[in-house]
Amino acid sequence: MRVSTFLLSTVKETPSDAEIISHQLMLRAGMVRKIAAGIYTWLPLGLRVMRKVENIVREEMNRAGAQEILMPAVQPAELWQESGRWEEYGPELLRLRDRHGRDFCFGPTHEEIITELVRREIKSYRQLPANFYQVQTKFRDEIRPRFGVMRAREFVMKDAYSFHISQASLQQTYDIMFDAYKCIFSRIGLEFCAVEAHGGVIGGGNVSHEFHVLADSGEDAIASCSQCDYAANVDLAISGKADEPRSASDKPMSVVETPDQHTIESLSQFLKIDPAQTIKTLLVKGVDDIVALVIRGDHELNVIKAERLPRVQKPLSFATAEEVQRATGCEPGSIGPVGLKVPVIADTSAAQLSNFVCGANEEGKHLQNVHWGRDATKPKVADIRNVVQGDPCPRCAGVLNSRRGIEVGHVFQLGTKYSESMGASVLDESGEAVAMSMGCYGIGVSRVVAAAIEQSHDENGIIWPGPIAPFDLCLVPIGINKSAAIAEASEKLYQELRDANIDVLFDDRNERPGVMFADMDLVGIPHRLVLGERGLKNGVVEYKSRREKATSELSLSEVVNRMRQHLNT
Ligand code: ATP
Ligand code: MG
Repeated sequence: MRVSTFLLSTVKETPSDAEIISHQLMLRAGMVRKIAAGIYTWLPLGLRVMRKVENIVREEMNRAGAQEILMPAVQPAELWQESGRWEEYGPELLRLRDRHGRDFCFGPTHEEIITELVRREIKSYRQLPANFYQVQTKFRDEIRPRFGVMRAREFVMKDAYSFHISQASLQQTYDIMFDAYKCIFSRIGLEFCAVEAHGGVIGGGNVSHEFHVLADSGEDAIASCSQCDYAANVDLAISGKADEPRSASDKPMSVVETPDQHTIESLSQFLKIDPAQTIKTLLVKGVDDIVALVIRGDHELNVIKAERLPRVQKPLSFATAEEVQRATGCEPGSIGPVGLKVPVIADTSAAQLSNFVCGANEEGKHLQNVHWGRDATKPKVADIRNVVQGDPCPRCAGVLNSRRGIEVGHVFQLGTKYSESMGASVLDESGEAVAMSMGCYGIGVSRVVAAAIEQSHDENGIIWPGPIAPFDLCLVPIGINKSAAIAEASEKLYQELRDANIDVLFDDRNERPGVMFADMDLVGIPHRLVLGERGLKNGVVEYKSRREKATSELSLSEVVNRMRQHLNT
């Protein structure tokens, strides 16, 4: 490709509305342009990258045994009413009405459409397992579209759906797809990890894993082990070990005056103790009555975990001031488990404390040297807090580190959620109708492009991983319009590189070298060849890798072969 006939729309200035580096660089490199909030046009340069991602995804999906299909973007409301999601899905679902007054939506995902297809086409267990995928445009009316194509409203997703006669078969395909995902992200050249996750709106909360590209700007917090491959979304990561020994109580409990000390921070400063030696008692609405949740002063309650406790009302809501008064006889802020008349559930680490400080259920007073079982009734124990950096790994002797990630993929065991509500069944061996089990598997194709930039860039611009670079190599001649020899030699080299199947961007503009170098660095082409007057006289061309500062000289006669070696073509 010649730059003179290519829409290379680079921009020097950093766009003021772009917060994160990938968004800034995608705009500066001329990869995408915004048309409305969260809606983008992909320019030739950007589309080349997205297509390379898609190709890798397609190859691995085909290899995993999935068949490519293409489903419509606009979906009839009736199917969403059948699954129950017409009501369930909030304002993220873009609803439309046609000229006949019929309701439709622009698909944010395609479970309904695929289930409708499969219930019509597949009738027997002999046709299972079946796995279908598409690469297609989705629309989600995100409340806060941001970071460019990272969280867009219109975006490209690869979504796959598998159908099974049994859970065992679903598990088998799930494992194959899990491995295919690892393969895809490795081939693209990303540093990623697979984390245990939980079901959102799509699933019934069954087995699920998210694939995250690790980057500081990531929206998701991940806890990952320093030693084994345990990694989980912080919302779900298992905290604390239940079998840690508790030190003995050696001091008698006593009351301390703590006037106006209502926060853990001020209380621990006032008493000159570590916040980890205090506990917080949170009163929440239970299924029957009020329930007390106890966590260590330095920890935070995890709402998702708390909501999983059978005694606790979902969604989690705190007791009102009157309810607190009624249950404890005092104001919120001075509550503690000693003498408390409501059920107490303590986090693992809070239950392991000895000689701790807690509210005395009396305004302006706390208790110190409290001991479970002696002063306060031994609580029920559960994991109800967020993990923190340094927590023990639940699987091995390692510790958990917290990292940030960008979710680029999601695999999910849906079970029979859609096949039951939409009546998708097959006849089994004995001729009986059974609801098919389903799996679904997404990759944010357009988001992957941005995530790759987050992970790989420098002060001069993008540094593409080779497999998804828009071009393999750029050829920059110096003084093409001044020297017929340069023009001729660079044309010849361009032709030779193309004949060798190398995807070359030939900067045939009549620009200053500095401008051309800056552009090629900004758009992130992995390899650069510079042909100048002096080099040509000596029969050499200058080579530079985008990742390295140093340049080297290659003889014109061997340069094509050397580039082929670099690119493995
Ligand atoms: P998120 O938590 O980021 O909103 P999600 O759980 O809603 O993601 P899924 O429904 O599992 O996402 O969709 C599959 C994949 O599509 C995600 O892993 C992500 O990579 C991508 N994706 C989801 N929403 C967007 C968006 N608004 N813009 C770009 N990509 C997206
Ligand atoms: Mg979402």
